[in-house]
Amino acid sequence: MEDCIFCKIIAGEIPGNIIHRDDEIIAFHDVNPVAPVHILIIPRKHMSSINEAVEDDRQVLGELMLRAKAIARELNIAESGYRLVINTGKSVGQTVFHIHLHLLGGRPMSWPPG
Ligand code: 5GP
Ligand code: ZN
Repeated sequence: MEDCIFCKIIAGEIPGNIIHRDDEIIAFHDVNPVAPVHILIIPRKHMSSINEAVEDDRQVLGELMLRAKAIARELNIAESGYRLVINTGKSVGQTVFHIHLHLLGGRPMSWPPG
């Protein structure tokens, strides 16, 4: 997707502070963190949101979650707690239309979200 900023990070066309990459996914620091730990975990395959996911994406969607767990442990927030978020749609705050899992931690958080 030529106009997708996350596809450009995957392709190395724009810099990203990447902390993990493998055949299916990459993870990098959010450029505008809203918590002491704010990592984005994304599939290499472009899909604009979870609404576009299909049965064949079952594996990669599982990889996002398991990678979040591993990164939380590496960044020492596994025990203190963290939040995993996938915003889906403009009205709930999605601004980049390449599916991404937010890993947020390092501070207390309230519920429900605003
Ligand atoms: P959304 O609002 O779509 O759920 O989340 C998009 C996230 O991507 C935001 O937290 C925003 O700060 C982050 N973001 C937008 N552009 C870039 C970028 O070029 N690089 C990085 N690392 N993060 C970005
Ligand atoms: Zn993309």
